[in-house]
Amino acid sequence: MANSRFEYVKQFETHDKLLPDCYIVVRVDGKKFHEFSKYYEFRKPNDERALKLMNACAKNVVIKYKTDMILAFGESDEYTFILKKDTALFNRRSDKIATLLGSLFTSNYVFLWNKFFPDTPLNLKHLPYFDSRCVLYPNLPIVKDYLSWRYVDTHINNLYNTAFWELIQKCGMTPQESEQRLCGTLSSEKQEILFKDCGINYNDEPEMFKKGSLITRKGEILHIDVIKKLDELFEGF
Ligand code: ATP
Ligand code: ATP
Ligand code: MG
Ligand code: MG
Ligand code: MG
Ligand code: MG
Repeated sequence: MANSRFEYVKQFETHDKLLPDCYIVVRVDGKKFHEFSKYYEFRKPNDERALKLMNACAKNVVIKYKTDMILAFGESDEYTFILKKDTALFNRRSDKIATLLGSLFTSNYVFLWNKFFPDTPLNLKHLPYFDSRCVLYPNLPIVKDYLSWRYVDTHINNLYNTAFWELIQKCGMTPQESEQRLCGTLSSEKQEILFKDCGINYNDEPEMFKKGSLITRKGEILHIDVIKKLDELFEGF
């Protein structure tokens, strides 16, 4: 290509290279999925089709970049990809990694939508899109804490949401009444409310809802107690 006098503008670009020898964690999260899930009538509190769609998208991302990945973990409208500390993916450029994984995830979501929601076509005015960020973690204990944080978040949110929606759907409460009933309650109290008021044993809820989804480098999708398996999951990394 011929140089032009305009080319100097390229010098204004900065390259945000991620520090070497640190784990790169990429998290994608659906934009306004509270609204998105309402528009497409997701089942509340957990639409299994939507979770399986998220898993299918993440699995394709993991498989495409499996030499760079340790594992991925997802819940609700978010997925985390944990990369090896020595990965040279996209020259470790933060913007490249975040945007390319985010757009690869989004294009998969659109492409696979129909397989999981065969009777619900996507509407141009309500398309799914995801934000994406890279976070650097300097050592494995902190990476394990990161994964534990998302795992515990899954449990806390799911217990709350399950109780919230059961009180509405089974006990006929309004959303305000349900929120009031759960306000300030401990985990054990929420489980008791579910059992006594709604006849639901939280332990019997589907594993994917309670534990989130973990994808191994081989592309296996597991719903496991992540905290118990941390050593095994990160062995050799
Ligand atoms: P933001 O754009 O800031 O991320 P958001 O509306 O996406 O806003 P989140 O905190 O990311 O907010 O929460 C995602 C919301 O999407 C959940 O609170 C829930 O209402 C909905 N949602 C996501 N996945 C599912 C699912 N599988 N079944 C039912 N609802 C879901
Ligand atoms: P990178 O991933 O680094 O961006 P790239 O292969 O996408 O690599 P670009 O510099 O972005 O490289 O160039 C895009 C290339 O895509 C062009 O050089 C051209 O070969 C091809 N291309 C893009 N749009 C068209 C088009 N409309 N018709 C034909 N070829 C196209
Ligand atoms: Mg968000
Ligand atoms: Mg979101
Ligand atoms: Mg979210
Ligand atoms: Mg290009």
